[in-house]
Amino acid sequence: MSEPFDKFREECGVFGIFSHPDAAAHTALGLHALQHRGQEAAGIVSFDGAQFYSHRALGLVGDNFNSAGIIGKLNGYAAIGHNRYSTSGDTLLRNVQPLFGDFSFGGLAIAHNGNLTNAMTLRKQLIDIGCLFQSTSDTETIVHLIALSKHSSVEDRLFDALSRVEGAYSLVVLANDMLIGVRDPLGVRPLVMGKLGDSIIFASETCALDIVGAQYVRDVEPGEIVIVTSAGIRSLKPFAKVQRRFCIFEYVYFSRPDSMSEGKNVYEVRQRIGAQLAREAPIDADVVVPVPDSGVPGALGYAKESRIPFELGIIRNHYVGRTFIEPSDQVRHLGVKLKHNGNRAILENKRVILVDDSIVRGTTSKKIVSMVRDAGAREVHMRIASPPTTNSCFYGVDTPTRDQLLAAKYNVIQMADLIGVDSLAFISLNGMYRAVASINRNNTAPQFCDACFSGDYPIPLTDFENDATKKQKDLFAEV
Ligand code: SF4
Repeated sequence: MSEPFDKFREECGVFGIFSHPDAAAHTALGLHALQHRGQEAAGIVSFDGAQFYSHRALGLVGDNFNSAGIIGKLNGYAAIGHNRYSTSGDTLLRNVQPLFGDFSFGGLAIAHNGNLTNAMTLRKQLIDIGCLFQSTSDTETIVHLIALSKHSSVEDRLFDALSRVEGAYSLVVLANDMLIGVRDPLGVRPLVMGKLGDSIIFASETCALDIVGAQYVRDVEPGEIVIVTSAGIRSLKPFAKVQRRFCIFEYVYFSRPDSMSEGKNVYEVRQRIGAQLAREAPIDADVVVPVPDSGVPGALGYAKESRIPFELGIIRNHYVGRTFIEPSDQVRHLGVKLKHNGNRAILENKRVILVDDSIVRGTTSKKIVSMVRDAGAREVHMRIASPPTTNSCFYGVDTPTRDQLLAAKYNVIQMADLIGVDSLAFISLNGMYRAVASINRNNTAPQFCDACFSGDYPIPLTDFENDATKKQKDLFAEV
């Protein structure tokens, strides 16, 4: 079997559109642009004014929403969609979003990017009072809380439900003649709003607006509930105001480089991080080489700042999918070479600065370094465009447990030794803040979530602390 994925893994992508005759087709396109945020499953729910229509499937958007037949059955002028990489709950069809519920006020579909940190605690309470859960997804907790709310309007019920949950959430909700976009009070996960003619769109990233030709209007604010109906748009800010804590790792790795995140172009931010890294950790060398693809913008920034030539010293094979299974023991040892190859013409006899976005377990870094040395590099210096990743994420990102994170166990010198480099350096936490937002980190009220680097978790980890994070035992198997 292949080794575990050696990166933090993007969480989910959401998309919603209101008042468009081809709502489902546009949602499929939006989800396609957000495919990097989740590749295990995809789903779309549409609404035509009377009836909801749903198609959810395991696999990629392009494999499941590629026929006029499927899209043609998703009737209506409004739709929401979801790309999933499971951070809680299993990869079962029942867990694939959008989730749908029938309520006294009508139907409601919900798609969630993020993770609730008290979902298991709430779930136990809800089961005790008779709620019947259909999935193991944390998002279903919100559906039950909406059902139990004593309020009458959809927005009051939604706010009531969200007042009880903790965690990170960017939601798109489709109720009768209503599309709603919501971000949690800290705004940990992204959600943007766009406009296409008279249609309003919500999406995890602006690249999903670009693909359908929509204009970026603004980010949904932390703690904001934006309600779109045939009568217009309303914005509610019912939560108590708290310091916003957007996920800084969106800039480092998760978001697509062509997206605008909180008003900043991700590609430019990554270049600035690379430049800051060059100022903080300079070294004499002949070439700056990115670890493809995520190390490319950082390496460009490093190269420009250090005036050392940027070269593609590692070439990536784009045709090795994540589902590739090595067919036999004979080729298993090839490991990273299936995806990357050292470009000998560039590397031979050179002093190389390798730039990557992060080190998680360190297994891939070690293989890449050995590949670069095998291709003739004389010295290999590694520079990392984020601080050491010392803590797991509980806010909607798939991360290894802390004991599997290299930086949680070893100091920089030990890590350099384990990876096999001549030197290793990470950008500082403050340096990353300066590159992202031209500010120093306010240590008493940090401006971003940076918990995976600092251990400073901005939202309580209730389930973790109650030891309730163990996977929900699934009593039902789909075969
Ligand atoms: S812990 Fe890290 S990955 Fe998770 S939300 Fe915070 S900054 Fe982002």
